[in-house]
Amino acid sequence: MSLNRKVLLLNASYEALGVVAAARAVRLVWKGAAQPVEYTGGCVLRSQHYAFIVPSVVRLVEYIDLRRRRAQSGKQRIHILVRDKMRCQYCGVRGTIFDLTLDHIMPRSRGGRSEPENLCAACKPCNQRKGDRTPDEARMPLLASPSALRYGLDRALLRHYAAQRPEWRPYLFLAEESEVA
Ligand SMILES: [Zn+2]
Repeated sequence: MSLNRKVLLLNASYEALGVVAAARAVRLVWKGAAQPVEYTGGCVLRSQHYAFIVPSVVRLVEYIDLRRRRAQSGKQRIHILVRDKMRCQYCGVRGTIFDLTLDHIMPRSRGGRSEPENLCAACKPCNQRKGDRTPDEARMPLLASPSALRYGLDRALLRHYAAQRPEWRPYLFLAEESEVA
């Protein structure tokens, strides 16, 4: 059982926001920022003295208003570079607005949208190395970041995960219904 086992992250409204690594989900629950929702399909993290049952779905305690955050991002490129603290989100190197690029976390060629939660600051070498692959495929995990905007991943990626994680499906359906409403 690995720290990289994925956990579905829901907004306080139960809308699916994206997926996070098990270790990140554990930190969110431990800090009180999220609550476990579903244990089916979860895993157990063990240290020398503790065993922690990792949920497969967690829900944020505080609601994140993604739409309002999107509306506020007029100058999207600068906004995202500032959000990511002018650091490449893959290797951590510090850059400037002149040499950092924006990377589509889920590539555009795969249905990834040009929305803040699917964009991150990347240095040119990392952007080229990643190419048209997801972070998982490229083995280039995103740096952990406290930014709420980072949680969201493209719905295409959620569907991809849902195919492998049947226990997530009820939550993903619920999110789709709330989008229509
Ligand atoms: Zn980099």
